[in-house]
Formats: sequence, structure tokens, C-alpha cells
Amino acid sequence: MTSLTAEFERVSMPLEHDFTISRGTTTAAENVIVRITDEGGMTGVGAAAPSSHYGETAATVEAVIPDLLAVVEEVGDPHALAEIEDRMAHVVADNPAARCAVSIALHDLAAKRLGVPLYRLWGLNPEDAPTSSYTIGIDETDVMREKTAAAVDAGYSTLKLKLGTDRDREVVEAVREEAPDATLRVDANEAWTPRETARKSEWLADLGVEFIEQPLPADNPTGLKDAYERSALPIAADESCVTLADIPQIADRCDIANLKLMKCGGLLEAKRMVHTARAHGLEVMLGCMVESNAAIAAGCQLGPLLDYADLDGSLLLADDADPFAGVPMPEGRIDLQATDRNGTGATGR
Ligand code: MG
Repeated sequence: MTSLTAEFERVSMPLEHDFTISRGTTTAAENVIVRITDEGGMTGVGAAAPSSHYGETAATVEAVIPDLLAVVEEVGDPHALAEIEDRMAHVVADNPAARCAVSIALHDLAAKRLGVPLYRLWGLNPEDAPTSSYTIGIDETDVMREKTAAAVDAGYSTLKLKLGTDRDREVVEAVREEAPDATLRVDANEAWTPRETARKSEWLADLGVEFIEQPLPADNPTGLKDAYERSALPIAADESCVTLADIPQIADRCDIANLKLMKCGGLLEAKRMVHTARAHGLEVMLGCMVESNAAIAAGCQLGPLLDYADLDGSLLLADDADPFAGVPMPEGRIDLQATDRNGTGATGR
């Protein structure tokens, strides 16, 4: 047993550009940073990036974190990751981002105490991580075209386009013109109908799009099945794939499970979801919210387990807005070996 102390603080990070999806616009991300320190003064760091879509805000995170940190201090062992995650899930079941911040900080601390990066603690090959996509939010078509040109100039080879307006086709055609060689994915964030998905999938396929993410509302699983059966492209489930229990429910109506740490509540739970998804014949993607590197870095450590990565949450922040540097992602490539940092690779700057 060791003695652990913990603290948390809210940070508000402006975005580089307003970020719009089919449901609304974000201008800044409120994260809650968690630090857990052992008796020798070694500190692990994590972050909660609460999403109002899943009922969390910075205020709800701050409200429950003391109860979660009480679990950590009670267990007292930073290597008791499974016990702490399990107990936290009983204490505040409906607050996954808050639990996730603590899970990440503990994993960071545990790996630092062992003197290894987290991927190495898990026995993963760092070279297996896929390239992350870079997301272009909804905007005027010309602005999306300009953002695409800037992303291509910056070296990003995989772009994810947010769709869900009456200009969807015009947007994808404009983006494809600017990025003829890029891998393109689209995310409708629940904005389409099954019939619309089937129809749009035809021209999206012609434009070389790789897959369609969350075409239907999550509360329409029958519609998702219909869309999946009629779509010319693979379907990824995001809003329909929140926790481990969702995986068997979506297995016969999508191709790709899009996990997020902030939806599932912890790194061990995320790993369970990866393996459960594979057992159900699904491919696995890891996405994110708009997150500090204190959280994104932990997602990067799971990279070698993934088929697809969408871990651009910190890249969308204004320069210097993020108090943390993370795993370097030059041109979207998750370079787990670029630094000699242990733990998640997040470090204050
Ligand atoms: Mg999505």
C-alpha cells in the first residue's frame, strides 16, 4: 500500500476555429484535469472532457470527482487499476468522463512508477498504431474547402468531414477536389434517415469515401440496421456505441465500433470494448471529444489495438490553449516512440 493524494482543476481551452457538427457549434472546450501523486512525489495526470450529449458538463465532473478520488485514496495502490475502475463505476455510474480522468491519471502514474510507456505496460507494438484522421467541421462550403487545403498542406493524409446539411454532396465534392489523394471519412452525427444514407452512400462511394459514421439517431436501432443493409459503404457506430453493453446490440448493424474514452469511462473498460468488438466481428476505431493532451495521450497508447484512429481532439485547440503536450502526431501519425516519456506521454508545458 502506498499513500496517494489527488487534486483537480477546470481548464477552459479555446478552439482554433469554431467547431460545428450537425447538432451545434463549440467555441471552447472545458476539461477537468486530475493529478494523482504518490508518496515519492511522482504524479500521474488525466483529463475529463465532458460531453453534454451524454449528460456531463465540467460542473458535473467537478461535483463527482471528490467521490472518485476518495475511492483512489481508500484503495491507496496506484497499480490496483481494475479494483479502482470497478469501484468507481459503482460510485458514479453515469459520469464516464469524470471516471475516465481518474483512470487515465492512475494509468499514467502506474506506468511511470514502473518506468515504461503505457503501451509497453500493455505489451503492445508501438508501430501498429494507425494514422489519425483530422476533422473538418461543418461550415460554408468554401470555408470547408479552405480548411481542407490547409490540412493537406499540413500533411494530413486522412480527413474526417462532418456532414448533415443540405449541402452534403457539394461539400464532399469540394473537399475531394482539394484533397484528391486523401483518405476521406464522413460523420453525419445522427442527421440522416435510412433512405438518405442508402442514397448518399452511392455517391460517397463514387467519391472514394472510406466509411460513414453514425448516419442515424442512436435511438433508432432499427433504422441503423436498415441503413447498414442498404449502404454502399461500411458504417461506423459512435453515438450508438457508448458502453461495453452496446457492442452486442450493434454487432449486426454496423462494421466499425467507434469507442471513446469519455463515453466508456476508463482505459481498462476501453480495452474490454476493443476485444468484445473484435469477438463480434467488428473493426475498432477510437475517437475523442475536444480534449487536452492529458487525455488524448492515453488514447494514443491504445493505438496499436485499433483499426482506425480519430484522435485530433487536441489538434483542434488554439495554439497554447492546452496546458499539456502529448504523444507527437506529426501529420496524424501517432508516434509513440518520439519521446522517452513514460506513462501516457502527457507532460505539462
Ligand atoms: Mg462521431
